[in-house]
Amino acid sequence: MPAPLRVVDAGLPAQVTVYEVGPRDGLQNESTVVSTDVKTEFIRRLADAGLSVIEATSLVRPEWVPQLADAEQLMPLLDPGRGVRYPVLVPNRRGLDRALGLGVEEIAVFGSATETFARRNLNRGFEEQFEMFAPVVADATDAGLRVRAYLSMCFGDPWEGEVPIAQVVLAGQRLLDLGARELSLGDTIGVGTPGHVSALINAFGDVDVDVGSLAVHFHDTYGQALANTLAALQCGVSTVDSSAGGLGGCPYAESATGNLATEDLVWMLDGLGIETGVDIGALVATSIWMAGRLGRPSPSRVVQALAR
Ligand code: MG
Repeated sequence: MPAPLRVVDAGLPAQVTVYEVGPRDGLQNESTVVSTDVKTEFIRRLADAGLSVIEATSLVRPEWVPQLADAEQLMPLLDPGRGVRYPVLVPNRRGLDRALGLGVEEIAVFGSATETFARRNLNRGFEEQFEMFAPVVADATDAGLRVRAYLSMCFGDPWEGEVPIAQVVLAGQRLLDLGARELSLGDTIGVGTPGHVSALINAFGDVDVDVGSLAVHFHDTYGQALANTLAALQCGVSTVDSSAGGLGGCPYAESATGNLATEDLVWMLDGLGIETGVDIGALVATSIWMAGRLGRPSPSRVVQALAR
């Protein structure tokens, strides 16, 4: 199988944690609903390919996201061994109760950097979202759970347009101050470019947020996801979200291309000599298998190139 020549860039992290979102963010945004058995096999194959953090599902109300309505059936089927982490998305107090009932060790909450998206996605105002998350993060932390916070619309908002960097930093700081261990900066509509990425991450540094607590979540809608990832790595970020095979279109932009594909990410990281623990061949085989279940080809360039 072809592989890039490894040429190490000493200015970049030696190791990157790939935070795999395919089973949750990916499948949530696919029109085809796949069975619990297929999800279980998908997650097992992702773990076999070396992914160590796999966001498994979401504990939203089943009628809101029918693709992930089987969380209670799925979670007990996941292999607890091998040190793989299986965080789940938790929107509110009810979701946390379900997570605790399932014995989940790690949750993620989903905040918005903008007023409009907070209202559309959370049915809360910008301020009110923090009031909703505060007891969820506090109770989860008290119960020993690790909490990640997503922050969406960090680089632009389809309704509000430009999103000021200072507003994103303020929102992100508030989520970290609630007790989140990690903050994932989301380019939900994929409009960010590398200079914007550097400016945002450096602005977090200016208010003494540890870059080790930041993750990035890029969408490839405008073909910028890998360039933006490299900019984030150059700023010291070492946790990158991606979706196997590029699963999940972008629901807020008229494009079939959404999440950065894990294969495209790992190809670049392999070339840079950055350790991920991921076997790209096993991952490509998994995405080809999953594309068959979904009935559409993977949009990942690396999957397409290596499938030939
Ligand atoms: Mg996404």
